[in-house]
Amino acid sequence: MNHFHYLAGEMHCESVALSRIAADVGTPTYVYSSATIERHATVFRDAVKDCGCGNSLVAYAVKANTTGALLKLIADCGLGADIVSGGELIRARRAGIPADKIVYSGVGKNLDEMELALREGIYQFNFESEEEAEMLSRVATRLGMEARVAFRVNPDVEAGTHAKISTGGATDKFGIPAHRIIPAYRRAMELPGLKVQGIAVHIGSQLTDLEPLRLAYQELGRMIAELRAEEVPIQVADLGGGLGVPYVAGDPSPPSPEDYGRMVAEVTAGWDVRLVFEPGRVIVGNAGVLLTRVMLVKEGQPDPFVVVDAGMNDLMRPAMYDAWHDVFAVRQQSRRRRSSIVGPVCESSDVLAKSRDVEEAHEGDLLAIMTAGAYGAVMASNYNSRGRPAEVLVRGGEYAVIRERETLDDVVRNEVAEPVWTGEQRSAAA
Ligand SMILES: *Cc1c(COP(=O)(O)O)cnc(C)c1O
Repeated sequence: MNHFHYLAGEMHCESVALSRIAADVGTPTYVYSSATIERHATVFRDAVKDCGCGNSLVAYAVKANTTGALLKLIADCGLGADIVSGGELIRARRAGIPADKIVYSGVGKNLDEMELALREGIYQFNFESEEEAEMLSRVATRLGMEARVAFRVNPDVEAGTHAKISTGGATDKFGIPAHRIIPAYRRAMELPGLKVQGIAVHIGSQLTDLEPLRLAYQELGRMIAELRAEEVPIQVADLGGGLGVPYVAGDPSPPSPEDYGRMVAEVTAGWDVRLVFEPGRVIVGNAGVLLTRVMLVKEGQPDPFVVVDAGMNDLMRPAMYDAWHDVFAVRQQSRRRRSSIVGPVCESSDVLAKSRDVEEAHEGDLLAIMTAGAYGAVMASNYNSRGRPAEVLVRGGEYAVIRERETLDDVVRNEVAEPVWTGEQRSAAA
């Protein structure tokens, strides 16, 4: 559920008209509903709180949307953070997320990032390779510290989602395969500076069926038993994220957090572990829209092109994942016309909605690109020298700009217009 709805024919976020935001802040602009985010965070938290030992950690996958004010809102709901970089760690800490609620995933953590996370005292490092264990052991030993660690296992299941957001197949770069798990843990147990405490899995994103998750968790359960037989003290099982959200109005809903919680309770009964969850999309996905204005409508084959001021640089998902986003007129229209909604960026893939039966659009109309709260603003770029869009958070009848629109000065800030040359390096032979 979300808090975007029509009042007197005009789309509102909670009780703020989107047209008011467009008039005040301009377009394109991401608009988020704080009520939706709070609701999703608390529903998810409550759905899994009694699973495992009962003190589950829900670590929001920060990469889905990292804007500070939004993270703060999620932190205030009691969630922790799943991070994939040092930058995300700093953002999570600044938002007030305690270090002991932070888990660190990702296939490439550099030595500085490892040191930062160690000094902060995060809850768990999720290794995605044996090499990472060796590296972190050296960093921790040098600092005289101890890192709490887990390995992410690649369970080789088909997540049944888009190939670009599947992470648990044998050929994906994530985690380590089951047959390397026992030797990896044996080695990690010997390494100084590491305290082995957990095991992790994450098979992909936008999962609309619980079966692949169930299979992956069953596999994880078997591995926990095997590891304990080898005297590896597994106390934490990190079940990852991946729960899908509805992108198409009227389609059957994906499993709810409650359905998911029931499945988890069933599969993990008797594991005797603390469970960690890493939901991203399901917390913020349909809590946001991208508000855009129609620049012009151009004749096209086979359908007219509605050229809007938001492009693939603002919302990458359609170009990158062939993702579907519903597009609705902010002021409801009764006439409909099959159209392609395209951005101004000079790429053929800059198509936000291809040959869709949509409300008829005219120059100057406002459109809402729905379900843009996750993997939207975070992937925005400056391609075509476009400043990244503004972001606005709504709370009841008021709103606040939580990220200013970038200006061209922002875009060129780090460029060096007059190159400062180094002088030539003398070759070894000279
Ligand atoms: C991206 C990611 C998540 C979040 O996935 P969602 O589909 O947004 O829930 C969780 N865990 C890891 C390790 C990730 O990389």
